[in-house]
Amino acid sequence: MAMSHKLDFSRSRKRMVDEQIASRGIENVRLLDALNNIPRHLFVEEALQDQAYNDYPLPIGEKQTISQPYMVALMTEALELRGGERVLEIGTGSGYQAAILAELAEWVYSIERIRSLANRARKILCELNYYNIEIRVSDGTRGWKEKAPFQAITVTAGAPEVPQPLVDQLAVGGRLVVPIGDVFSQTLIRVIRTEEGIEREDLGGCHFVRLIGKYGWQGE
Ligand code: SAM
Repeated sequence: MAMSHKLDFSRSRKRMVDEQIASRGIENVRLLDALNNIPRHLFVEEALQDQAYNDYPLPIGEKQTISQPYMVALMTEALELRGGERVLEIGTGSGYQAAILAELAEWVYSIERIRSLANRARKILCELNYYNIEIRVSDGTRGWKEKAPFQAITVTAGAPEVPQPLVDQLAVGGRLVVPIGDVFSQTLIRVIRTEEGIEREDLGGCHFVRLIGKYGWQGE
């Protein structure tokens, strides 16, 4: 890739962080650094790379999307990662959010239901030298029991209700962030597991593709 093009991408990235993310109240410095360093344009097809730092989601094939940069930041900040966590991500998609999580936590387990997307994400994450991410193809609404408990779980597709297996696989003190609602609009919910049960917080409105699976929406 020509040097000037590379510089353009890093300028666009800095503008994305300043104008779409920091200006909307995201303050976590490690997260802002990760967003500044990860080449988001490499997670989308070449024809869309010039739009990779714009303020909206983009198609990644199979009728799925890479989420809007601000939404990735908001969800990640809500996980309150300090560096030593095992994180579960449901919905690998392009692999972009997995890369962000891998910069902020110790180990990332990510589940994608569509094999072609999982394969593409594995390839780019390997080329970018991420060795602390494991991706599996399955129904993420069931979680990943063998690797539980998780200190943080993020669900990057919209569910009708909080999938119970994910709550069960949260460590005490762990945070789960998940969009809940109907297929047209959802509310981002944070669930915190405590000794006594769970606490639920509303983080605002959002719009995601459907979480399809046993504890999500039925169908294709
Ligand atoms: N985190 C992704 C990224 O950084 O590109 C964005 C993910 S996209 C908005 C949602 C993804 O969730 C899609 O790739 C979709 O196939 C996946 N998905 C939907 N239901 C799922 C399920 N039950 N288990 C695993 N993945 C699922």
